Amino acid sequence: MGSIAGNDENKPHAVCIPYPAQGHINPMLKLAKLLHHKGFHITFVNTEYNHRRLLKSLGPSALDGLPDFRFATIPDGLPPSDADSTQDILSLCASTTTTCLEPFCELLSEINRSGGPPPVSCIVSDVAMNFTLTAAERFGLPEVLFCTASACGLLGYTQYRRLREKGYIPLKDMSQVTNGYLETIIDWVPGMKDIQLKDFPSFIRTTDPKDFMFNFLIQLIDNIPRAKGLIINTFDALEHDVLVGLSTMFPRIYTIGPLHLMANYIHDERLNAISSSLWKEESECMKWLDQKEPQSVVYVNFGSITVVTAQQLTEFAWGLANSKKPFLWVIRPDIVVGESAMLPPEFLAETKDRSMMIGWCPQEQVLNHSAIGGFLTHSGWNSTLESIVGGVPVICWPFFAEQQTNCRFSCVEWGMGMEIDNNVKRDEMELLVREMMDGEKGKKMKEKALEWKKKAEDATAYEGSAYLNLDKLIKEVLLQ
Ligand code: UDP
Repeated sequence: MGSIAGNDENKPHAVCIPYPAQGHINPMLKLAKLLHHKGFHITFVNTEYNHRRLLKSLGPSALDGLPDFRFATIPDGLPPSDADSTQDILSLCASTTTTCLEPFCELLSEINRSGGPPPVSCIVSDVAMNFTLTAAERFGLPEVLFCTASACGLLGYTQYRRLREKGYIPLKDMSQVTNGYLETIIDWVPGMKDIQLKDFPSFIRTTDPKDFMFNFLIQLIDNIPRAKGLIINTFDALEHDVLVGLSTMFPRIYTIGPLHLMANYIHDERLNAISSSLWKEESECMKWLDQKEPQSVVYVNFGSITVVTAQQLTEFAWGLANSKKPFLWVIRPDIVVGESAMLPPEFLAETKDRSMMIGWCPQEQVLNHSAIGGFLTHSGWNSTLESIVGGVPVICWPFFAEQQTNCRFSCVEWGMGMEIDNNVKRDEMELLVREMMDGEKGKKMKEKALEWKKKAEDATAYEGSAYLNLDKLIKEVLLQ
């Protein structure tokens, strides 16, 4: 991979600012490292809250960075907290939108005044942090927005305004969520054949015309054209038709994913050592996996935000136990709403010889381990991409946001998934796990997952679509 020549003072300087949640920080950090590899000086902006958590989970010197890869912080606008749990996404969207602009502008001024690093030359901002567009306009800087969600999820959000105009949303009452109304087919979305209302990102499930998240997403989409370009963490072969649809709305799209494969180009060990895990990784699960037969283990993980009820946790547990398969189950300490996660003692006794349960794992490594045979996932976009790169089929239990859309695409378009009912029952869980691990359908899903894995590798290989798009992004936007 080529890079820009030049000494330190002349380096272009990208300020990279993720939305402060795990699924956004991970891909932004990878992109920042890639830009550093391409010759950029980097300032990576964390919220104070996350920075403190990262130092706690990674160790005190973990974010010292390098002379030309520095970390900086701004407040997130939420009341101070010492808890290491998932922040409330709705409150975080509201607080970042209303309070972060001025601290961010002060940070930009401070960097430029300090005389140390080269002056800031461009901003790479999460699409959900679009107050940064105002900062870019004030400072006369080019800005590119980064969508860490899937292209299909993003296309879903672009339809919110029309769904409202045509009277589909808001819902008349919440009984429409369960009475079949969400099966209504929406036939106008380019690249989305036979899509139903239920497949749209979850914030349509509201009866309130002023619903905060629904309207937040509408304004998020409206603001995208203010940026010089839009990066999406996906690859062309996977979401071709959807990307064609999106390109009629946003002409400068750069698909540079899967970013965690692109990250293989980074050979700087000091950079590779910088992780972005907000929870402490319990890597002993890798040794446990080493002792298991190839493709024998069911992996269960619902990401960083999903919460479950105590009842759902119990149904998942007995579904896993009754499937008789070995499993690795990641149960975040804050996964059960308002309670600590308690599993039935009989379940623990019955499965102790074939299970491992931990609070957080190195997921990319887990999904690349040969022992993993299938993944029960909430269909977060990073998890979906990581599953594709591992060639691992999925059972989808979408929770919120564009996970519903990812689920539909995993199951229907990409053929590597099966959906499990939201109101999960142990018998269905047992059946689906058995099917994924031993059944005919499971075999086909595995084949499809391996096909997508190969295409992801092609996209990120030398002169593949993602490889070339990263260079185009730098030339057409970031160095302008
Ligand atoms: N992750 C991890 N270990 C865990 C759970 C999650 O490293 O035990 C990482 C995972 O690899 C992914 C991110 O956290 O990169 C979760 O992002 P995703 O989009 O899948 O879901 P979200 O957390 O945003 O709902």
